Amino acid sequence: MMTDAELATKVIQGDRRALARAITLVESARSDHRARALALIEAVGTANRQALRIGLSGTPGVGKSTFIETFGCFLTALGKRVAVLAVDPSSARSGGSILGDKTRMDRLSRDPNAFIRPSPSQSHLGGVSRRTREAVALCEAAGFDVVLIETVGVGQSETIVSEISDLFLLLLAPAGGDELQGVKRGIMEMADMILVNKADGDLRATAMRTCADYSGALRLLRKRPQDPQGFPCAMTVSATENTGIDAAWEKICELMQWRRDHGHYDRRRSDQSRFWFGEDVRQGLLAALAHPKIQAQMESLSQAVAQGDLRPERAAQDLLDMIHIEIPQ
Ligand code: GDP
Repeated sequence: MMTDAELATKVIQGDRRALARAITLVESARSDHRARALALIEAVGTANRQALRIGLSGTPGVGKSTFIETFGCFLTALGKRVAVLAVDPSSARSGGSILGDKTRMDRLSRDPNAFIRPSPSQSHLGGVSRRTREAVALCEAAGFDVVLIETVGVGQSETIVSEISDLFLLLLAPAGGDELQGVKRGIMEMADMILVNKADGDLRATAMRTCADYSGALRLLRKRPQDPQGFPCAMTVSATENTGIDAAWEKICELMQWRRDHGHYDRRRSDQSRFWFGEDVRQGLLAALAHPKIQAQMESLSQAVAQGDLRPERAAQDLLDMIHIEIPQ
């Protein structure tokens, strides 16, 4: 039986099996596991490593897994170690995981410099974000150079992924111009780069047109301080033909270098830490509120309030006292 200290050491050594075990620990809902997970994350944090965190989103069928396979293999061929994590916001998906299908990323999963981790399905978004963030931290500590965080584009999950990553890629498929509205403005505004996939064969011309449409749309968006000249940008790629991947990587490196040089990289990470701190506090309070004991108390207090036996502000304070907090003045 491996101790947690040994587990931390092995994670830092880049041992993939230890990493997988560590992620299982942070995913556990058991409260004793929770304390161990926090200690483990703190222990491996001493390695003080950073990976390039790339968020990738797109609707089902745009070619996310094909792209990650091609892009991941491209990166490992450059000598980089690549981890792939999934954020799955839906609880009802068949197979339980967006990466659950064994045929996905077959080549990459056999690459000794890659680590692929499907995320178990869960309905609770806050839980997904915490676990994924912690998994990212573990992958960084394990010395991965690039961590790809994949999510199916269904709305809310993009926000989570962009709040976890240094760079957010939106993958699109070639489509007629009128489908441009299909991408919500909020998601466009999050994207650092749009990659129009499937720019091959018969789809190539449409992909070029789609790319031009999105380039135009991106130019109309409000200028963000974290973007150098020419960003956010749209490009075409073909995951199956392996074209445009090197150009996309060059753009990614250009953007990241600029952000590092101009302080945006560090700023984004500290903003994210701040955001997640607040988020975890909120989630913790919501979880506390959902506790059966608190729920029962809430019910009886709310009856007392309804009958006029108790003033609402007093009842609220009584309830909050039960979860050991004060109403802010
Ligand atoms: P996901 O649901 O976003 O992960 O998409 P998949 O990677 O499973 O791909 C969906 C379909 O699109 C599959 O049939 C792929 O073979 C196909 N596909 C993916 N990338 C490309 C590409 O670059 N070109 C073409 N022509 N088809 C692709």
